[in-house]
Amino acid sequence: MIRSVLIELRIASSAGLLLKTIGLKVTSIKIDPYMNVDAGTMSPMEHGEVFVLDDGGETDLDLGNYERYLDINLTRDNNITTGKIYQHVIEKERKGDYLGKTVQVVPHLTDALQAWIERVARMPVDDTKEEPDVCIVELGGTVGDIESAPFIEAMRQLRRRVGKDNFLQIHVTLVPVLGEQKTKPTQQSIKDVGRAGLVPDLIACRCEEPLHKGTIEKIAMFCDVATEHVLGVHNVLTTYHVPVLLKEQGLVDTLRDLLKLDVIPRPKELISKGQRTWKEWTHLTTQQENKRQDIVKIVLVGKYIKLHDSYLSVVKSLEHSAMRCGKKLDLSWIDASHLEEPTRAENPAEFHTAWHGICTADGILVPGGFGQRGTEGMMAAAKYARENKVPYLGICLGMQIAVIEYARNICGLLNAGSVELDGETCPEKLVIFMPEVSKTHLGGTMRLGLRPTLFQEGSEWSRLRKLYGEKKEISERHRHRYEVNPEYIELLAAAGLTFIGKDDKGERMEIMELKDHPWYVAVQFHPEYLSRVLQPSKPYLGFVAAAAECLDRITADILEQENRALFNGVNGVNGVNGLRI
Ligand code: GLN
Repeated sequence: MIRSVLIELRIASSAGLLLKTIGLKVTSIKIDPYMNVDAGTMSPMEHGEVFVLDDGGETDLDLGNYERYLDINLTRDNNITTGKIYQHVIEKERKGDYLGKTVQVVPHLTDALQAWIERVARMPVDDTKEEPDVCIVELGGTVGDIESAPFIEAMRQLRRRVGKDNFLQIHVTLVPVLGEQKTKPTQQSIKDVGRAGLVPDLIACRCEEPLHKGTIEKIAMFCDVATEHVLGVHNVLTTYHVPVLLKEQGLVDTLRDLLKLDVIPRPKELISKGQRTWKEWTHLTTQQENKRQDIVKIVLVGKYIKLHDSYLSVVKSLEHSAMRCGKKLDLSWIDASHLEEPTRAENPAEFHTAWHGICTADGILVPGGFGQRGTEGMMAAAKYARENKVPYLGICLGMQIAVIEYARNICGLLNAGSVELDGETCPEKLVIFMPEVSKTHLGGTMRLGLRPTLFQEGSEWSRLRKLYGEKKEISERHRHRYEVNPEYIELLAAAGLTFIGKDDKGERMEIMELKDHPWYVAVQFHPEYLSRVLQPSKPYLGFVAAAAECLDRITADILEQENRALFNGVNGVNGVNGLRI
C-alpha cells in the first residue's frame, strides 16, 4: 500500500525531500481545481510559467518544484485539474462505461479521482524504476471554494478507505503578525476543513517570524492536535532552508511514526544516497548564509518580466548553478522593449536604465517567448553580448534571436527575420515553421517534451559538450513551433556560426556555440525543465560559471566526477550528485 500525504501549498516538496533522505521512494501529484484541462493554454502573465514534462505534458509550475526537489520525472497524469478529471469521466460516460446509470459528481467523479490518484501514485518516477513508497498530494485552491469540494470529498473517502496509517494530512495556514501572532485565522481554517470532513494530522503555520511557544500551544489546544504536531514555517533566508527548518522540528520522526514508515523495506543504497543528498543540501544552505560570498550579476532580458513566476524554472536553474559555483546570484530583469529605439525617444530614462543593466552584467540571458514584442531589444542585447564577449545564454526564442542577429550583422542579411515575428513575406526567413510529424508524439503543432540532441562531429572543442560529460547524445525537453531554417546552415557556418548539436535526423538545429567567445551558447530546447537543486542544468551551469569566471574549475570538477562515476559503474552524470564538499 502506498502512503499518501495530503498537503496544501509548498511545504509538500520539503516534506517529500525529507522522506527521500531516509531512503524512501517518493512521488507527487498536484491537484489544481481550475477548469482548464492543462496549463498549456494559460497565459504566463496570469498564471506563471507553463512547465513541460518528459512526455510533453504542459502542467502547473508546481510540478517543476517537485521534480527539482525530489529529483524525479513526472508525467502529465501527475497533474489533475477539474477539466481533466471531468473530461475523463465524460469520455467514460460516452463509451457507455456507466451502463446506463445517472453519472454524478458523487460517486462517479470522486471514485474516478481516487482511482486516478492510486494509479498514478504507483508509477515509478526515479532511477530505481520501482513503485514509490509515498505519494505527496498537493491540493491547490482554498478550502470552501466551490470547485475544491469534489476533491476534498474524494480525499476524505480515500482516507477512510486506506486507513489512518496510510494517509496523513498536513494543513498549511497563515499566522499573521499584527502586533502579536494571531491564531484565529488558523483556528477558522481548521474548522472549515473539519466541516468538509478532513481533520488534519499536522498543522504547518506560515509566519513572518518564528512562532512563539505560546502560539504553538494555543493552536495545538484549539485545533485539537499535539503540540509537536504544530510546525512553524517562518521566513527563512531561501526556500532551500525550509526542509532544514522542518527537519529541526522533528518532521521526519513524526512522519515515520504516524505513517508507520519503518515497516517499509529501504534498500541500503537508497539510505546512503539519501544521507549524501542531505549532506549536500545542508552544505548548500550553510554556504548561502555566508555574507561574504562573491556575487554573479545576471540580467534576464524578456517579455513577461512583470510576473517573475513566468520564468520560474529559468530562475531556479540560475540559482542551482550559482550555488554550485559558490556564488550569490544577483538577478535583474530587463523588459526587452526598453532596449529598443522607440523607447530612447519616448522614455529615455527607461532606455538608459535598461542599457545600464546590460552594460554592467556579468552574463546576459534571453529566455523563451512567443510573439514579436520586445524581440528587437533582445536582438540588441544578443549583439552586445557577442561583440563585448559577455557570456550569453539563449533559450528557445533566445536562440532564434541569436541566429537572426548573426545573420543580419555578420552575414550581411539585413532583412533576416523569422516567420513567427515577421510573417511569411519576410525576405530572409532564418526561422521557419517546421511541424513535427511524429508517430509517438501526437497532438498540436507544438514540438513538446523530451527529444534527443546529437553532438556533431568536430564539436569536441565545445565547452557545453564537456559539461555534458563529453556525451555524444543528450535529451532535453522542448516547447516550440519554429526552427532555424536548414537552408541557411552552410552560409552561417561559413561565417563562423556552427550548430554543434542537431536532432537525430540532423534536420533541426538544437545547439549553437561560438568558438571565439567565453560563453555564447544558445539552445532550441528548454534545459531549465531538467535542472535539479543538486544537479544544475549544464547550459545554465556553464553560463553562470563563465559569468563568474570559474568555468574551467567547474568543467574540471564535472569531468572528474564523470570519470569517478564511470569507474564506480554508475551510468552518466545523472547518477551522481553535482556537488563536491
Ligand atoms: N516562439 C518560438 C517558437 O514557437 C519560441 C518558443 C519558446 O521560446 N518557447 O518556436
